[in-house]
Amino acid sequence: MVSVAVVVPGTSERNASCRRVVIIPVDVQAPSARVTEIARAVASRQLRAADVCRAALGRIEQRDPGVRAFLHVSEAHALARAAQVDAALDAGRAAGPLAGVPIAIKDNLCTRFAPTTAASRALDGFVPPYDATVVVRLEAAGAVIVGKTNLDEFAMGSSTENSGFFPTHHPLDAGRVPGGSSGGSAAAVASGMAAAALGSDTGGSVRQPAAFCGCVGLKPTYGRVSRYGLIAYGSSLDQVGILATNVPDAARVLEVIAGPDPRDATCSHHRPEAFSAALEDDLVARRMEGLRVGVPREYFGDGLSEVVRRSVDAAIAKARRAGARVVDVSLPRARHSVAAYYVIATAEASSNLARYDGVHYGARRGAAGGIEALYCESRGAGFGSEVQRRIMLGTFALSAGYYDAYYAKALRVRRLLRDDFTTALREADVLISPTTPTTAFRLGEKLSDPLSMYLADVYTIAVNLAGLPAISIPCGVDEAGLPIGLQLIGPAMGESLLLQAARGFERMLAPTL
Ligand code: GLN
Repeated sequence: MVSVAVVVPGTSERNASCRRVVIIPVDVQAPSARVTEIARAVASRQLRAADVCRAALGRIEQRDPGVRAFLHVSEAHALARAAQVDAALDAGRAAGPLAGVPIAIKDNLCTRFAPTTAASRALDGFVPPYDATVVVRLEAAGAVIVGKTNLDEFAMGSSTENSGFFPTHHPLDAGRVPGGSSGGSAAAVASGMAAAALGSDTGGSVRQPAAFCGCVGLKPTYGRVSRYGLIAYGSSLDQVGILATNVPDAARVLEVIAGPDPRDATCSHHRPEAFSAALEDDLVARRMEGLRVGVPREYFGDGLSEVVRRSVDAAIAKARRAGARVVDVSLPRARHSVAAYYVIATAEASSNLARYDGVHYGARRGAAGGIEALYCESRGAGFGSEVQRRIMLGTFALSAGYYDAYYAKALRVRRLLRDDFTTALREADVLISPTTPTTAFRLGEKLSDPLSMYLADVYTIAVNLAGLPAISIPCGVDEAGLPIGLQLIGPAMGESLLLQAARGFERMLAPTL
């Protein structure tokens, strides 16, 4: 594990006594519990939030020109927030659970203090009049939001190359993609520019980039986290997720952002449990003993690269030796999940994106040519080609004569797939699979072949169709040193169990974390 110590000069008499060495991990070899450690150190006054913030901003300045994870760095806002955290502590007020923790936010989550574009030219320069609920909750917990991260336009893609502005690069190899669509968030965490980040996951957009970049990526149960202020893509699938360097950090952030929100009618009434408290070593060890780990055979078939297969198989073998009970399960309808997803997600997207017409929302073009020209030109210029493709696919699937053949059929497949998971999760506590079929691919490699890009999410998509929680954790590297991720899937609202199992695997695979 490699770390660098950033020495931050003191700014006043008072904090001259503070420890001003901030340990920032280099690339994916991150030290343990960064969110948790920073929050503890700030709360106990060993570190000043302002120093942590300056160190993170310095790291962004140093690393981001090569990685390009950020669409916007909110330097002034971050420094002001950090100063407020320090002032509150100086005044003797209680520290929040994320006091002084630098966090990056995917740019499809609304922030009043920074532009929110969803990486679309249609929203270039848009500054929302309100903050997303998750942003409000992070800041109330003392987090310091350092910037907005790049994504595939409107979260449509698996490589961050569909951004309307520029692609993000893999932190370990600039010739490769970081995954997507939350590629900026994953790259920011993996290169130490933020301790954790928020993303969104409609079909794998948190887990897949986490796997590519070597971080932990958590997609909570559908409805677990409020989506108020998340720019909608596929509303029956979208969920806000977390990228972090380890499982306890992800749990701590989830505790802060989860829970009912009167502003989001689809948000569940379940109160968040004490996810972090469930991760004490002895509780995790007890959970791993006899844990039924289901291996869906359909997820280990053709198309899976040998190196990923070997790595996930090795993790399963280790779990067995550690006392888990490994059982074979089947998800017979999983092979239809990519097809069903691309009907349902595009149908919902075609409806959600109708509002960017240059009148209600979005950049306006062609106003001189009348209303039809205005719509056509605004949407033609504002949307990139992948977004246009999806709007057309979705409009087609919903149109009279095709609705039953495509959309209604996809909904039936979705229902059957859900039943498959229910059956499998009766035989097992959690399911295990690879997160992605391969490690990070090259920039440009899949751009001209949308179908091969869609298949990058072949193991993650079914989870969204079924509304379940799932997490990707690092489980090794390939010959070139590129990270490999394994996915654990849990029952609906079973985040406590899922996080315990993930922590058990993390302990087993990376004992120092
Ligand atoms: N890659 C998938 C898609 O393009 C998933 C994206 C996501 O989860 N936002 O739709």
